Amino acid sequence: MRSWSIPVGRLFGVEIRVHLTFVFLLAFVWMAESAMKGNSTPGRVLILVGIIFGSVVLHELGHALVAQREGLQAKAIILFPIGGITLLDDVVAGSTPGVVAWKRDIRIALAGPLVNIAIGLISAAVVLTRFPEAQLWTKPLIHSNHLLRSLVWSNLYLGVFNLLPAYPMDGGRVLRALFSRGMDIVQATRRAVSVAHALATLMVVVGMLLLIPGGHPDSSYLVMLGFFLLIGAQFEERSAIFQSVLETVHLEDVMLTDFATLSPADTLEDALEKAVHTLQDDFPVVRGGDMVGVISKANILQALRAEGNGYVQSVMNRIFEVSTRTESLASAFRKLNSRNLSIIPVVEEQQLVGIVTLQNLMHSMALLAESRKLRKEALES
Ligand SMILES: [Zn+2]
Repeated sequence: MRSWSIPVGRLFGVEIRVHLTFVFLLAFVWMAESAMKGNSTPGRVLILVGIIFGSVVLHELGHALVAQREGLQAKAIILFPIGGITLLDDVVAGSTPGVVAWKRDIRIALAGPLVNIAIGLISAAVVLTRFPEAQLWTKPLIHSNHLLRSLVWSNLYLGVFNLLPAYPMDGGRVLRALFSRGMDIVQATRRAVSVAHALATLMVVVGMLLLIPGGHPDSSYLVMLGFFLLIGAQFEERSAIFQSVLETVHLEDVMLTDFATLSPADTLEDALEKAVHTLQDDFPVVRGGDMVGVISKANILQALRAEGNGYVQSVMNRIFEVSTRTESLASAFRKLNSRNLSIIPVVEEQQLVGIVTLQNLMHSMALLAESRKLRKEALES
């Protein structure tokens, strides 16, 4: 997801990113408007998209600020045309004492739509009292030729549509929070996702049926919305599976037990010679059974180039984290990330029993996800 979005700035310390599908919104509004008669100008279309963009930003800021008040750090906001995703720091999720997780999740989920509904109602009041010529109730409700009216209705639409019980929309998050009272969060997510799938499919089908007789102009929005919901639900399901793999797989299931080690007394040239004969990129440095450091192929090469031959001892990284067999992948990932490491030695009773490297985690994650999917399919058929 991150790679499909570009950073545009920060608000209240939260990074704002725009997803590339926003370009589709621009194209879609342009096409939808030129299909209708009327003479919209590119400038006005841009302003209309700006209004929708701004409304989505305020919606997401609603989530982010309430999350921060509840003790969760918002890392980034990614903006999609029909809403956004606020990435919360999942490491601390559920760990704030004295806060009931499902109640907190409901408050965070409702904050976004409430922002839009408030903007919609306030601007509607302003339009009705100050600018009656904007004709609030005249169709088309959202059009670049009627920007004030569009401000009102796009916010009301955003507020109401996000309350649909279709995960990952906010209404679906409320639903998931309610499910999570009686089951773990992965199961609750699965259940919320299947509700979302059903609803999105229904919207696409109904939208298509309405479209066929050349009929209702709003039905194309219904198809588009259903389509976005399907993509969203797909993505959330995958990340829920990924998360469950991270939490339930232990290091002993994925660690490399057949690996090469180096000695601090090895010369860098010897080390390189050993490195050539293995696929490993990172090596534990061991002296008489004790872990004393870690070193990577890249470090060895770099040192050789810069200073010529020397000893592993002087180049190796002495700061490293060790793990135990029964630690979860999630905890290993956190350790790798927080210290920018690429290898974690797995230790049992002071003995090195395996290593986990970033390279090997990436491979085994893909394999594990695949084997779980196969098992799940086998169970279902
Ligand atoms: Zn939202």
